[in-house]
Amino acid sequence: MLITDIVKILTDSGIAENEANIEVRLLIEKFAGFNLIDIITGKKLDEGKLKIVEEKAKLRARTREPIQYIIGEADFMGEKFFVNPSVLIPRDETEILVTKAVEIINKNNFKSVLDMCTGSGCIACMIAKNTHSTVLGTDISFDALETAVKNMERMELFNRAIFRKSDIFSKISDEEKFDVIVSNPPYIPPSQKKTIQKEVTFEPDIALYTKDEKGMEFYERIAKDAPHHLNNGGYILFELGIGESKNVAEILKQYRFSDIQVVKDLANIDRVILAKYVFP
Ligand code: GLN
Repeated sequence: MLITDIVKILTDSGIAENEANIEVRLLIEKFAGFNLIDIITGKKLDEGKLKIVEEKAKLRARTREPIQYIIGEADFMGEKFFVNPSVLIPRDETEILVTKAVEIINKNNFKSVLDMCTGSGCIACMIAKNTHSTVLGTDISFDALETAVKNMERMELFNRAIFRKSDIFSKISDEEKFDVIVSNPPYIPPSQKKTIQKEVTFEPDIALYTKDEKGMEFYERIAKDAPHHLNNGGYILFELGIGESKNVAEILKQYRFSDIQVVKDLANIDRVILAKYVFP
């Protein structure tokens, strides 16, 4: 068995060749303990290790389980995050949300941030790492929070990113106020479940789907109570599903947010919405 044979296991199952090459490299790094230099210099893999890599590639080809779950890690903004089927795999698009939040926090010297539906904690950790703020990450899933804590520990963000189990604002007390509330909440309408890519079916339904057909459930629930938990002049930032910016803008207007802005992603899709809250 050669490395090229392992790549072929993946391409034969319909995975594009460039993607298959990356995935095999990740499998070799993880399961054979090789680094990139070892791979580039053609260091020989012993048969035992090669066998493990082959088995993992076969699992990937057969089940279409995302490579990040098989490896147990995902790359996000240059960091490695632990992931497992209780958390969503961080998406490249979410970098736009983090970057915008970091810009606002640093410009205003904001100190307290709430990341709602934190999942793996990728947003909370990256904001804590790149600002002087303290970030509270909340999620309804205990398993997700366990993963978020592991990610916080690995990045050594003790007391900078903290986590709490809460269904939206249920465990946020009336006295708790934040400068920024950020969220990449579930936003896929349930009717899209039938047509979703196989890989995505391994991700937790509660992280992906809303109950309502417009995908607005969490934007609505968060925007409704956010004004009670924002300091004067604070900001709210959401990641958006495709085609959702107009409806979310309406929700934000309804709850008296101002200065609404939309940021597009590289595919020219409205991907992030942000707005300010000034006390009436
Ligand atoms: N906030 C997490 C992320 O962006 C999880 C999002 C979710 O579960 N909907 O990856």
